[in-house]
Amino acid sequence: MAETLGFIGLGAMGAPMSRRLIEAGYKVIVADLDKAALDKAVALGAEAAASPADVGSKAETVLVSLPTPDVVKQVALGPNGVAEGSRVKTFIDLSTTGPRAAIEIANGLKAKNVVPMDAPVSGGVGGAVKGTLAVMVSGDRATWERLEPVFKVIGKPFFVGEEAGQGQTMKIINNLLSATAMAASAEAFVMGAKAGLDPDVMVDVISAGSGRNTAVTDKFPSAILTRSFDYGFRTELMYKDVKLAIDEAEALGVPMWIGQMVKQWWSYAYSRGGKTEDFTNIIRYVEEPVGVEVRGRRNTKPE
Ligand code: NAD
Repeated sequence: MAETLGFIGLGAMGAPMSRRLIEAGYKVIVADLDKAALDKAVALGAEAAASPADVGSKAETVLVSLPTPDVVKQVALGPNGVAEGSRVKTFIDLSTTGPRAAIEIANGLKAKNVVPMDAPVSGGVGGAVKGTLAVMVSGDRATWERLEPVFKVIGKPFFVGEEAGQGQTMKIINNLLSATAMAASAEAFVMGAKAGLDPDVMVDVISAGSGRNTAVTDKFPSAILTRSFDYGFRTELMYKDVKLAIDEAEALGVPMWIGQMVKQWWSYAYSRGGKTEDFTNIIRYVEEPVGVEVRGRRNTKPE
């Protein structure tokens, strides 16, 4: 019989990832503060636990997909946290927390005889649903080899290194580039629209040209040209990721001129949009002073 897994954090990413694990035949013990999210997972075949500690008492391997480094710390090591569970042996963090928090959490877990693994993911809600996420794993090599089949259910796993935090460093570099592409593409499309270019044509040309990036190939057609602004990633989280990357660059003594500018853009979008807004709304703050709208004619969501 397949291993029992714990899964904490059933949000935009955690819900589809845990669903894939259930569908792959794992027994999955779940926890979340949000009762509705918990009920949905139970309806799919998961078993609800009362707390993170309860998850850690029912499963040897516990995965988490939580919003911020502080929440991950709390859920891992706080009162009633996973490490207090009687069975837990391995803690896998799928969230984006940055290397500093990952190292701190890893040290706390090791002191309680729990093996920590970083496994942040990239590829958005669509990738989580389809099981095509890039999974950036670091930590104990033997544990990676044992758990590779689990990672393969949620996406394409890469072993980044044996040190705690290396997977997180990989992830924040990736997201800095993704955040840059989004902010820069927003400016470029507003310029094109102001000059009278058709946004659908801009998507087609850039997707076939050297300016190609995931903002233009995926995010613009599905959530900006449609004006639905529902890609499934919050500005709050994008801003968090860029801040983590810039903090790390500063700690390493690496100057980032473009990165600082990108951070300012996301800081501004967050100040305008608040905690719940989808990150695709950033373009509205470029459009607003210019007085144009980047709207598609096709107005259909690609598959
Ligand atoms: P989300 O806010 O949709 O989901 C987080 C879930 O955690 C929610 O269901 C919330 O109720 C639960 N939660 C919060 N505090 C909790 C606690 N103390 N105990 C138990 N449950 C708690 O966030 P998301 O978009 O799913 O992102 C999760 C992580 O994955 C983040 O670190 C994010 O940066 C990262 N990520 C997100 C995406 C994306 O496209 N959304 C892509 C890659 C990585």
